[in-house]
Amino acid sequence: MITRRLFLWAAAALSATPGRLAALSRKTGSSPRRPGPGGSSDAGRGVPPARSVTVLRARDAAFDPWIEVDSDAIAGNAREASRLAGGRPLLAVVKNNGYGLGVSLVAAALEPVEAVAGCAVVTAQAATELADSGFSKPIVLMGRVDDEEAVDLASRGVRLTTIDESSLDQLSRVARRLGRPVPVQVYLDTGMNRVGLSFRRAPELLERLAAARAVQVEGTFMGFAEDDFDATQLVRFTEITQAAQAAGIDLGRLHAASSHGLFFRPEAHLDQVRPGLALYGAYPDGARALEAARLTPAFRLRARVARVERLETGDSVSYGRNYVAQRPTWIATLPVGHADGYPRAAVDGCEVLVGDDVYAVVGAVSASHTILEIGSERTVEPGDEAILVGPDHAAIHPNAVAERAGISVYDVLMHLSSRLPRVAS
Ligand SMILES: *Cc1c(COP(=O)(O)O)cnc(C)c1O
Repeated sequence: MITRRLFLWAAAALSATPGRLAALSRKTGSSPRRPGPGGSSDAGRGVPPARSVTVLRARDAAFDPWIEVDSDAIAGNAREASRLAGGRPLLAVVKNNGYGLGVSLVAAALEPVEAVAGCAVVTAQAATELADSGFSKPIVLMGRVDDEEAVDLASRGVRLTTIDESSLDQLSRVARRLGRPVPVQVYLDTGMNRVGLSFRRAPELLERLAAARAVQVEGTFMGFAEDDFDATQLVRFTEITQAAQAAGIDLGRLHAASSHGLFFRPEAHLDQVRPGLALYGAYPDGARALEAARLTPAFRLRARVARVERLETGDSVSYGRNYVAQRPTWIATLPVGHADGYPRAAVDGCEVLVGDDVYAVVGAVSASHTILEIGSERTVEPGDEAILVGPDHAAIHPNAVAERAGISVYDVLMHLSSRLPRVAS
C-alpha cells in the first residue's frame, strides 16, 4: 500500500506545480490543506524534498499561520518619520524582504508617500525584485555586486554604492559599458569598519571619483555605531564632506540617520534621513519611552487555534516539560512556532491575543507550535484567531515582544519566515 507521505513525495517529484499536486491529492480523498483540530502543520515533516513541503503549504490553508501587512500604517509611519526629521525626505530602508514584511508590499505602500525619496536595499536580488515590482522612485543598492550585476542594475536605474576603493574602477567600467555617467551614492566609512570608503582615504578618493566623471553623485552617506562614538563619526563625516564641497565636488544629498539617529541624533538629520525599523512601526531601543512619535506596528503575525485541551494537576507541556499545571487548566495550541519567526524565548513572558484577552505562552516554543495557558474556563475554541505580534494590544507590540523575550526588536521583524503568506489587511 502506498502511504500518503510516499504518495505526496512521488507527486511532488512528478510535478512541482501546485495545481497538479492539488488535483492529484484530491484523488486520495484527504485534503492536505485542512488538517483538522488536533492535526498538525507538521504534516510534511520527514518528506524528503523540501520542495514538496512548500507545495503542501497552500496559501489559503485555514490553519496555517500568516502575516497581515497594513499599508496605511507603513505610509503613516513614513510621514511620521519625516515629521520627526523636520519634514526632510526619507530614503526608506526596505532591506531583508522589507524587514520581513515583504518587499513588494512595503514598497507599494511607501511609493505614494511624498516624503519618500526612494528605497534602499542591500542585495542585488532585492534591487531586481523591487525594480521588477514597478517601484518608480530611485532604488539604492547598499551592497557589493559583480560587474554583470552592476551593468544590469545600473541600466535599470538602480543606484550603486561605493563599497570600497575598487568600486571606483567598477563604476568607471559600468559607465563605459552604458556609455553614460551612472548615478551613485557614496558610502563613507567613518569608523564602523563594515562597508564604504575609509574616512582616512576618503578625501583623495572623492577627488578621484569627481575627476573620473564616470558617476553622478546623488548622495553621500554614513552609518552610526549608535553609541557615544557617534559624535566622533559625525565630526569625521562633516570634515570630509565640507572639504570636498569647498573643493567644488558635488556630493548630492548628505544622510546619516537611521531610526536610532532619527530619534536621538537630530544634529545628524542632514539633508535626508534613512530609517528602516521605524517605518514598520517599531521603535529603536529607548525611543518608545520618549513618546516623540506615534508609530503603528504595520503587521500582524496571525494563526488560528488548532487544539484546546484540559490539563489535570501535574500534567506538563511541550519539550523539556518546563511547565507543570498546578491546578486543572485549559491550554490552547497555536500551529506557529520558532521556524515561522516567533521567538523561542517567547516562553519567558510573552502573551498572545485571542479574542479580547491575552494568554501566557507556556512550555517550550517548538518549530511549529506554541502553547497558551487559558485558565480554569474554556474561553477559546479551535479556529479562533490569534495575534502573536501586532498593534492590537500593548502586550503584543513588537517592542513588548522583544523586551519580554529578551531579544532585539529587529529579530521580531526580520526573522519572520519568508514562507508565511503576506496578506494585505
Ligand atoms: C539597515 C540600515 C538602515 C536602517 O536602519 P534602522 O535601524 O532599521 O532604521 C540605515 N542605513 C543602513 C546603511 C542600513 O544598513
